[in-house]
Amino acid sequence: MAIGESGAGAVDCELEELVLRVNDHPEVRLKLLTEVSRALEDCSRLMPAERATLAEKVERWRYQLLNHNAGHLSDDQSELTQRLDLLMNQLSGSEPRPPRSLLSILATTRSQPLSAEIEACLDPRRPLQAVEAAARVVTDRHFAAGDGSASRPMLLYAPLYVSNHCINHCLYCGFRYPNPMDREQLDVAQAIAEADVLGRRGFRHLLVVAGEYPRLITVDYLARVVSALTGQGFAVAIEVAPQSTLGYSQLRAAGAVGVTLYQETYDPERYSIYHPKGTKAWYDWRLEGPERAAEAGIRRIGLGILLGLGDPREELGALIAHGRYLLERFPDLKLSFSLPRIHDAPDSFSAPHHVDDETFIRLCCALRLAIPCANLVLSTREPAHLRNRLARTCITQMSAGSSTSPGGYQKHDRDGASREQFPVVDQRSPEEVVRHLTEDGFRVVWNLSELQAR
Ligand code: SF4
Repeated sequence: MAIGESGAGAVDCELEELVLRVNDHPEVRLKLLTEVSRALEDCSRLMPAERATLAEKVERWRYQLLNHNAGHLSDDQSELTQRLDLLMNQLSGSEPRPPRSLLSILATTRSQPLSAEIEACLDPRRPLQAVEAAARVVTDRHFAAGDGSASRPMLLYAPLYVSNHCINHCLYCGFRYPNPMDREQLDVAQAIAEADVLGRRGFRHLLVVAGEYPRLITVDYLARVVSALTGQGFAVAIEVAPQSTLGYSQLRAAGAVGVTLYQETYDPERYSIYHPKGTKAWYDWRLEGPERAAEAGIRRIGLGILLGLGDPREELGALIAHGRYLLERFPDLKLSFSLPRIHDAPDSFSAPHHVDDETFIRLCCALRLAIPCANLVLSTREPAHLRNRLARTCITQMSAGSSTSPGGYQKHDRDGASREQFPVVDQRSPEEVVRHLTEDGFRVVWNLSELQAR
């Protein structure tokens, strides 16, 4: 049967002609479309898993188009990416939706000024204390304790690094492929042993972190780790390589409740400079990762930029646009943001857009005002005094006592620093952080279920 005979609206002669115009060697693509056409024509022809696999092939085709053309698509290519996106969605059996449009939204955002409210936060002539006070009011209003008490909850979580293998060359990262270091990947038992240490310290919410190494850090491996940790009573989010929609579905089925995926920089040209080789060089694949995770049903999504890489005002504008875009498409999403700053980097990498403490505080406050309902997350990259100050102002989730190397919680070893992704600056133990937060009037929360953000 030729494409178009199926009567299925999504696969028609027009699409076939589009493929012929875009591809020099269209045979494989046309064959795939024939399979898709048959699957859509007769829903009983394929098992759900087979349809999902087919949807994944269509999804990968779309990203090949996007990535090979590095954002410079002809009209035909652009139309084909939209048609493939909808076809993938139709195959997966999801509700009909408009095509993904984050790329065009970001392009528009780049040409627009920041809102007056954000400008006011970033304006160095406005006293910093006034900016912080405004952010604090908004934070307290949206994250007040649901029980009517005066204390605002602060969720504590811990990163659990399961692998420092990575094929990428991100210029700013200690795990980058050319960096000589001992590489290690925890097996499931070792991951549980790490989690046991964290559990004894009080943590119930873990962020499983891994580099990108497709041969080793597979969806199956991650699903086994997530499933095992979930089975131990932890709520588990993941910060790993971007996955396909099917991959995220598998991780959700394994128990993952959240996905953190930072774009680092939203500027495609800067992005290609900082990510010269490896899978992370695929800008579009990463950019739409959070949306794929949301489509797979994961409801806690974390976005972020790595401060230092790009112009912080531009990056903040793009980050806000990304967050709003996701909230519009997935109104029940629990969105969080983080603004990690580059302090130390390998091979003397120096961040071209240094962000000082005052600007950092202003950026965090601006983010709070821009999207009041979003959680703001702060890691141990920042010093204790700054973390304390930002906690009072706008932060709702913090890590504490972190290790950024695989196995680091058990080993307390002397060579840990040589295997870590970035240096931990706030060296306080979880107990010390808890004590300080409590003295400062916070109610420390270890379980997601205890949170009642409004
Ligand atoms: S930032 Fe992530 S992807 Fe890049 S080198 Fe580090 S671990 Fe690998």
